[in-house]
Amino acid sequence: MGRTPLSETDSAFGSGGGVKPAPVITGVQSPEPAACASVPSADELLAREQKIRVMSLDDVSRAIESCEVCRDLCRNRKHPVPGQGITNPRLMIIGEAPGEMEDLKGLPFVGRSGELLDNMLVAIGLSRTDSVFVANTIKCRPPANRNPRPEEVSACKPYLQRQIELLEPQVILVVGLFASQTLLGSTEGVQALRQRDHFLEIGQRKIPVVVTFHPAYLLRRPEDKFMAWQDLKQVWSLLREPRTN
Ligand code: SF4
Repeated sequence: MGRTPLSETDSAFGSGGGVKPAPVITGVQSPEPAACASVPSADELLAREQKIRVMSLDDVSRAIESCEVCRDLCRNRKHPVPGQGITNPRLMIIGEAPGEMEDLKGLPFVGRSGELLDNMLVAIGLSRTDSVFVANTIKCRPPANRNPRPEEVSACKPYLQRQIELLEPQVILVVGLFASQTLLGSTEGVQALRQRDHFLEIGQRKIPVVVTFHPAYLLRRPEDKFMAWQDLKQVWSLLREPRTN
């Protein structure tokens, strides 16, 4: 019999260890940083967006690997980070932008943050290898972890939108301030947005969205993990409902 999710001991998901990084299922690491072409015109951006709207998941990953739209990000990145996980996942996790480790490896949520995220998933009976897809709002690391600029967010948005459309997750868990505000079009903080009902309308579908803290924040403030645990229980409860999207 499998592990029962949501036991009392599961709430100690910050204890660390035990969960190995998942293999890459979609997304390929690019061997060389892109050359970074000149800034595209508005017409070129529109044509690019229309192309992305009909891409397959693998095409989206390939397009991200060679994307040169944001010059500053393109010039400074080691690897773009398209995302990682299974197709048709029960849960899609959306973070903000790759950090140093993610940029080096071309994978989302690695290092201590990734380990904590994996432990959080185990606590609700999920794992990156069989039920989850993880992606970022921005696919390339902003230099020195600066905030992404509005034009970069807008340029990268079609990739995330197409990924969500194709993956059709049952539930989305959005982690951290920047990703929550971007995805929900809000200016409120994580504390104000969490434990509320949110939906993302993609085509004809309404996908429930749960907001929580970024694992990197929880590593700095372990005393707030109990709130992340409440949010994970919200995810678990939504996953038990019949799929409506
Ligand atoms: S952040 Fe997104 S839009 Fe900008 S260069 Fe990277 S993949 Fe392209």
